[in-house]
Amino acid sequence: MAALLEVEHLVKHFVAERSVFGRPIAFVKAVDGVSFHVYASLNPRMTVSQILTEPLALHDLVPPDRRRARVEELLRLVGLEPRFARRYPHEFSGGQRQRIAIARALAVEPKLIICDEPVSALDVSIRSQILNLLRDLQDRLGLSYIFVSHDLAVVKHIADRVAVMNLGGIVETADTPSLFASPRHPYSRALLSAIPVPKPQAKRSRMLLQGEMPSALNPPPGCRFHTRCPHTIARCRTEVPQLLADASGHATACHRTAELPPAEAIVASDGGFSPALEKLVAAFSGRVEGPLVSGVGIVDALPPAGV
Ligand code: SF4
Repeated sequence: MAALLEVEHLVKHFVAERSVFGRPIAFVKAVDGVSFHVYASLNPRMTVSQILTEPLALHDLVPPDRRRARVEELLRLVGLEPRFARRYPHEFSGGQRQRIAIARALAVEPKLIICDEPVSALDVSIRSQILNLLRDLQDRLGLSYIFVSHDLAVVKHIADRVAVMNLGGIVETADTPSLFASPRHPYSRALLSAIPVPKPQAKRSRMLLQGEMPSALNPPPGCRFHTRCPHTIARCRTEVPQLLADASGHATACHRTAELPPAEAIVASDGGFSPALEKLVAAFSGRVEGPLVSGVGIVDALPPAGV
């Protein structure tokens, strides 16, 4: 089973004293070469029932005589059968274990759930199931999520509002349609231009960044993106850009937001499909009345398209 967290030789030293020239000469070694790892987020020695009962008991949310019914209710909520309560985590697939983790988070009746890369380890079909489950639970229970992901397709699918981060700071934030349709920060534009598109003939403008990613331990002064930005000017090297919003709430941290040309289309409108692919896409999207190509029935039998 893959480790959830692996820490190798972690070091954290604080400067306790400096010389007259400002050089550090004494340190407090708060952490000095620590290594450890955590296995799964689900305890392999506990049954699903015990895993889900634990938060109910810890927070004293449900009286003991009602906890079994609550566990069954939580399992149903995430699409698992109540009889699974007696099983151990190793008896489940990756997607089912993720559902159990979601059920455990729901046990304490949260208003906000922080999801840190919740689907990155899952294959694509399971990923779409978990994302749709999160969406469904959000609608039914009125939840809010802070969803951390490196996968822009996932972000586009799940988020109402997006914040793009670079080297520890937010460089752009907007509602999801606005950010994906018209990214303003050069870093956001580079990220979005790298999303693969399922159109082999589509013409698209890919923005390739030059140079190495700076170290987060020693970020550049001024705009932290200036060493890789194609629009850098002198001011960018010394002055930190503030995150400023327009009337719509679309905010960007860039000195040149007003000067930069609008983003080119991520997918050009003239990027057409091959005729055969057009028919398949039409079949997927329900625009076909009758079978246009052999195999449409098989297409209909496939699971819904993922993210
Ligand atoms: S502030 Fe300057 S370096 Fe930073 S993103 Fe804007 S143009 Fe590029």
